Amino acid sequence: MQSITHVIGAGLAGLSAALRLTQAGHRVVIYEAGPQAGGRCRSYFDEPLGCRIDNGNHLLMSGNDAALSYLKLIGAEATLEGPADARYPFIDLETGERWSLAPNRGKLPWWVLVPGRRVPGSRARDYLGGLRFRACGPDATVADLVGDDRRLYRRFWEPLAVAALNTEAKTAAAHLLWPVLQETFGRGAEFSRPLVARDGLSESFVDPALAWLAQRGGTLRLSTRVRKIGFHGNRAVSLDLGGEFVGLDQGDNLVLAVPPAIATTLVPHLVAPTEYRPIVNAHFRLEARDSVAGIQILGVIGGTAEWIFRRGTLASVTISAANHVVDEEAEALAPRIWRDVAAGLGLGDRPLPAWRIVKEKRATFAETPEQVKRRPESKTFWRNLALAGDWTDTGLPATIEGAIRSGVKAAELLKNA
Ligand SMILES: Cc1cc2nc3c(=O)[nH]c(=O)nc-3n(C[C@H](O)[C@H](O)[C@H](O)COP(=O)(O)OP(=O)(O)OC[C@H]3O[C@@H](n4cnc5c(N)ncnc54)[C@H](O)[C@@H]3O)c2cc1C
Repeated sequence: MQSITHVIGAGLAGLSAALRLTQAGHRVVIYEAGPQAGGRCRSYFDEPLGCRIDNGNHLLMSGNDAALSYLKLIGAEATLEGPADARYPFIDLETGERWSLAPNRGKLPWWVLVPGRRVPGSRARDYLGGLRFRACGPDATVADLVGDDRRLYRRFWEPLAVAALNTEAKTAAAHLLWPVLQETFGRGAEFSRPLVARDGLSESFVDPALAWLAQRGGTLRLSTRVRKIGFHGNRAVSLDLGGEFVGLDQGDNLVLAVPPAIATTLVPHLVAPTEYRPIVNAHFRLEARDSVAGIQILGVIGGTAEWIFRRGTLASVTISAANHVVDEEAEALAPRIWRDVAAGLGLGDRPLPAWRIVKEKRATFAETPEQVKRRPESKTFWRNLALAGDWTDTGLPATIEGAIRSGVKAAELLKNA
C-alpha cells in the first residue's frame, strides 16, 4: 500500500511541502483548521468594499527564486505582475519630495553613483553600509550596523528593514537582511523588480496549488483541526482530530506546518519564537475616475502609511511592525491613513471613501536577535516528523519566500524517509 504523508496546516509552507512530496511520489493528505486554505496569505470577498481583497498586501521580488519556482510548478507564474523595471517610487510627506530608487541591471551596483537613481541627499558611500550585513554577528540590529542618525536610515534602511523583517530597525536582527539584499538588489535590476499577485493571493498561490494537488490524488480536509499528535519511540504514530483518530503506519510521514504558538502545543519540548509583530492594512475604494491600469506601488516616508498599492479602484496600504497603531480604533485610523493616500496619489482633498482596516496581530514572529535564536530546525527527534513554517530556521525573514523554502526543506527531509 502507498504510504501517506500527512501535512498539518494549509498555509504556503504546508502547500509547498505537499507539492514537493507529491512530486516525489507520496500520497498527501492536508489538514487545515480554517474553512479556507492559504493561512496568512489569502483572499476573500469583503462586503463593505464590495470586492475581493487580500488579507494583507504581499510584496514579492523577482529574486524570490523559491516563490517563483513554486508558481511555475502549479502553472501560476504569469499571475504575478509588477512594473517592467526595478523602480521603487517614494514620497516624503514631511518635505513633499518625490524620488525613485532604481537599481541597474547586472551585479555591479553603479546606480548608487547616480543621484537620480538613489535617495535624495544620500551619498554613494552611505550605501556601503550594506556590506556590513554580510558578516555581522547574530546579536546585531539593523540600526547597530547603519546608524540611525543618517538621512539614508530614515529613507532607505528603516523602511527596508520594517518591510522585510516586520520589526523596527532598532530591534530587527541584521543578519536576516543579508540574504534578502544578496538575492535581490545584489543580483541587479532583473532580480529586484517588485511583484504582486495580479488577481489576489489565493488566485496566485493557493487555488492553483490545490488544483494541482487534487489532480494528483492529494486530499485537503478543511475545518479539520489536529488537536494532538501521538508519539511512540522515535516516530509520530497518530493524529487526534477531535473525536476522530488517524493512525500513521510504518512508512507514513508528517509535516507540521502550523504557527509556532500551535506547534509548541503539539510537539513536546519544542523551542520556538514566542513574540509577534502586527501588520495593519487599510483598503480604500477609489472613485472610477481615479482608477489605474495595472499596479502602482508607492513607498511613503514620514506618514502613518508605509506602502500604498494601487490596483484598479482599490488603494491598499501596509503598515508593518505596527505596534504603534494596532490598538487604535479603526474609525480614527482610517481618515489618518486616507490623508497619506490622498497626498501620495495626488488625489487632493477627496473625502474618505469606503474603507476597511484589517489588523493581523500575529502577522509574523518578532524578528529580533533573541527570537531568531528560538527558530527550530526542520528536522526533529521523531524520524517521520519535519517542521515547516516561516518561523522555522530558514535563514530568511518570515516571508512567502521563507515559508515556501521551509516546505521544500521539510519535503527533502521526508522524501526518502
Ligand atoms: C498582513 C500580512 C502581510 C504580509 N506581507 C508580506 C509580504 O509583503 N511579503 C511576504 O513575502 N510575506 C508577507 N507576509 C508573510 C507571509 O504571509 C507569511 O510568511 C506566510 O504566509 C506564512 O506561511 P506559513 O505556511 O508559514 O504559515 P501560515 O500561513 O500561518 O499557515 C499555517 C496554517 O496552519 C493552520 N493551522 C493552525 N493550527 C492548526 C491545527 N491544529 N490543525 C490544522 N491546521 C492548523 C492555520 O489555519 C494556517 O492556515 C505577510 C503576512 C501578513 C499577515
